[in-house]
Amino acid sequence: MRPACPTCAAPDETVAVRKALLDADRPLDPPTRELLSLPPAPGGTSGAAITFFILAGLLALLGLHTLLSGDGGGSSDPAYRIGYRYGAFLVAAVLLGIGLAVHSDHRSRRSATADQWPQTHEQWQQLQQVWRETWLCRRCRVAFLPAAPPGPDVAASPAVPLAQFPQWTATLARRAGRPGTPAASD
Ligand SMILES: [Zn+2]
Repeated sequence: MRPACPTCAAPDETVAVRKALLDADRPLDPPTRELLSLPPAPGGTSGAAITFFILAGLLALLGLHTLLSGDGGGSSDPAYRIGYRYGAFLVAAVLLGIGLAVHSDHRSRRSATADQWPQTHEQWQQLQQVWRETWLCRRCRVAFLPAAPPGPDVAASPAVPLAQFPQWTATLARRAGRPGTPAASD
C-alpha cells in the first residue's frame, strides 16, 4: 500500500524515491534525478579504476603464461622475442598506472568536498538507510518519510521540497546514527 502524500493527502502520485529513480516509464528530469540520487560511498575506488586494475591483472597473468611457456613467438629476432615475452607486462604496467591515476583523481575530488557529509562508510550506510525509506510525491514535488522512521529519534516527517532533499536526508541520517555510535575519528 502506498503512503499518502503529506501535502495533497493522496497516495496516487507517491512513489519510493529509489523506485522513482529506476522508473523507465516516467523518468525524472536530470536535475531532480541528481537531487534524489544517493551520493557515492566515500573513499571508494571508482568503477573505471577497478576496470583498469582488472585488465592489468589479466594481462599480467597472460604475460606470466607466455613467459612460463618459454615460447618466443615463433621468431628468432631477439628484439621481437623480448617484446613478445614482456610486452604484456609493459601494457599491464601502463594500465595499472592509468588505474592508479584515475583512482587518485577520484579520491582527490572526494576530499575536495570533505566538508560534506557523509565522510566515512558507516555514515554513508546511515544515509543509505534513511534514503531507502524516503518517498516522493510527483504531483507536489515533495519528499517525505512514511510512518516508519529510520531511527528512534526520527519522527515521520512533513513534506520537504525536493531542492532540500540532500540536506534533509543527511540531517536525518546524522540524527539517526547518533545514539550509541561514537564519532568516527576519520
Ligand atoms: Zn502530493
